[in-house]
Amino acid sequence: MKIGIIGAGISGLSTALALARRGHEVHVFQREHAVGGLIATFDFGGIPIEHFYHFLCTADRGYFNLCKELGIGDRLRFKKASTGFYYEGRLFNMNSPLDLLRFSPIPFTQRIRFGLFALEARARTEWVQLDELTAKPWLIDRIGKQTYDVVWHPLLALKFGAFHDRISAAWMWHRIHRVAKCKGRMGYLEGGTALLLDTLLRGLKDAGVTIHPGQPVTGILADENRVQGLRFEGAADFACDRVVSTVPLSVLARLLPPHWEAYAKDLRRVDYIGVSCLIFKLRKRVSPHFWLNVHDHRVPFNGIIEYTNLNPLDGACHLAYVPYYTALDSPFYTMEETELTLKSWEALKLLAPQLGDADLIDHHLARTPFAQAICPTGFLNIVPDMNAPIGGLHVLDSTLLYPEDRTQSGHILKGEACANAIHGGAPDSGSG
Ligand SMILES: Cc1cc2nc3c(=O)[nH]c(=O)nc-3n(C[C@H](O)[C@H](O)[C@H](O)COP(=O)(O)OP(=O)(O)OC[C@H]3O[C@@H](n4cnc5c(N)ncnc54)[C@H](O)[C@@H]3O)c2cc1C
Repeated sequence: MKIGIIGAGISGLSTALALARRGHEVHVFQREHAVGGLIATFDFGGIPIEHFYHFLCTADRGYFNLCKELGIGDRLRFKKASTGFYYEGRLFNMNSPLDLLRFSPIPFTQRIRFGLFALEARARTEWVQLDELTAKPWLIDRIGKQTYDVVWHPLLALKFGAFHDRISAAWMWHRIHRVAKCKGRMGYLEGGTALLLDTLLRGLKDAGVTIHPGQPVTGILADENRVQGLRFEGAADFACDRVVSTVPLSVLARLLPPHWEAYAKDLRRVDYIGVSCLIFKLRKRVSPHFWLNVHDHRVPFNGIIEYTNLNPLDGACHLAYVPYYTALDSPFYTMEETELTLKSWEALKLLAPQLGDADLIDHHLARTPFAQAICPTGFLNIVPDMNAPIGGLHVLDSTLLYPEDRTQSGHILKGEACANAIHGGAPDSGSG
């Protein structure tokens, strides 16, 4: 079969490999000249690093399988990664039950409830009924109002900004479940996603996949039943048997022909949140923690991911990511880079007084409007099917992972499932 894939992020590239290894002719069309999408890297003064932070959990089977297949499985590293909590001027460790018992910002009885709740979330597997509940009241009911305000509010706000009180309890449960199952062990690929992408591109070339960088798809060609190909500006149409879309659902909706408007409308029901993600390159550490949750009325962000506390790189500098997940009309999303950097740097110095201006080597800002799908209650009903109602069109989007958070590993597994569905000849709504 001849297959066109829209997007060369981890979904598009890993699906392309899986399809090519099953003997299909695969072409991947990518809007930008660079590949990688959200895992793309840049040269940060000699260090190839991702625009957006990435870590691995011990359950990331899809990622491990791909690394093994590409011959870089021996470059995976796992270790205990420290978590901390900065609460109104005080730094707390959050790595053990004892740390939790010592966490004085919440009442003692609620610390016990919190610990029991985390154990229960780790053991729990049933989640469908949680899809109908909102995370906020569910958490307050289980662990108490003060624990919610101090601990979970900043965590939800870190991920969903102003949309935090719409999120379903199912999404929240899975997030706690995934991290609790890691038991504090987190991982990274030595060489980062730069190594993954380089090796993947070599594998794709060997498997005969053609990548078309800098060639955005402007339309999907389809009649009343099935896809016929892809359209571009200033280039000939591409005729194919199947199309795999890996772009956000609202982008896919824009690519559909007018007679598929009803389906496009369904896809537009999913909203996304953007992120402005700063990286600070420093001479000194911010803290000993890889993940530091922040709840302080003087600080404009909710967390710091100090990547070099997980992956020390060459030890010459420290890298700290400061993300702001917001709606696209938020002042944080529209703010000039220099203003956002200065605001964040002043706050970093406040919570890490050992830092002075001479310790700031460099900084970088990356933004994306599609950082995360917003998963409100009832989300299960609006998650699209991988096999679209248009015959021959297959949809890969992070929403298909629900209630799981979006992860590279989850995308790789979905890509594999999609390749199997296409290769097995099933199901293709246009042929039925
Ligand atoms: C801040 C942040 C932190 C994260 N942290 C983690 C983490 O710790 N661990 C983890 O596993 N995951 C993490 N993720 C999630 C992970 O990065 C994503 O789930 C994954 O990279 C998504 O891959 P994708 O290929 O599905 O989408 P994308 O990477 O978005 O790729 C889609 C591609 O399609 C291209 N495109 C768009 N429109 C068109 C068009 N019209 N024509 C052609 N191409 C088009 C885009 O340019 C893009 O390259 C994080 C994400 C963010 C934003």
